[in-house]
Amino acid sequence: MKRTELKRRTPLKKLSKKMQKQRSQEVKLKKQMLKEQGKCGTDDSRAVCLICGKWALLDKHEIKSRGQCGDALDRENCVCICRTCHDECTNGIIKLSVEGDDLIVAWVKTMKTKRILNYTKPLEVTA
Ligand SMILES: [Zn+2]
Repeated sequence: MKRTELKRRTPLKKLSKKMQKQRSQEVKLKKQMLKEQGKCGTDDSRAVCLICGKWALLDKHEIKSRGQCGDALDRENCVCICRTCHDECTNGIIKLSVEGDDLIVAWVKTMKTKRILNYTKPLEVTA
């Protein structure tokens, strides 16, 4: 069977001005958060994961997702965590919630919980 090559007729849609602005603000917020979590140097996004405490490449995660009307630019709605923890949050293995100034990390299966005090305050990282 002869197949014709798929051709894109229109170029991929570019991000809207509004979205571009949002993205750049998110990048800025992430940089600030990484700094607070012990990042050093300028060329990568390694810092201390808020959940497991490992030094790793971190992602910004929204405690309340955008789908749940969470604000990706609200410092209190964002945590920087490693890829492993991020995957577990996305897959529902870990549930995050906020209680006052603290972040509650709950492992659904084991019912284990961990309270991270003042999670929006810079970490005291001891080398
Ligand atoms: Zn982690």
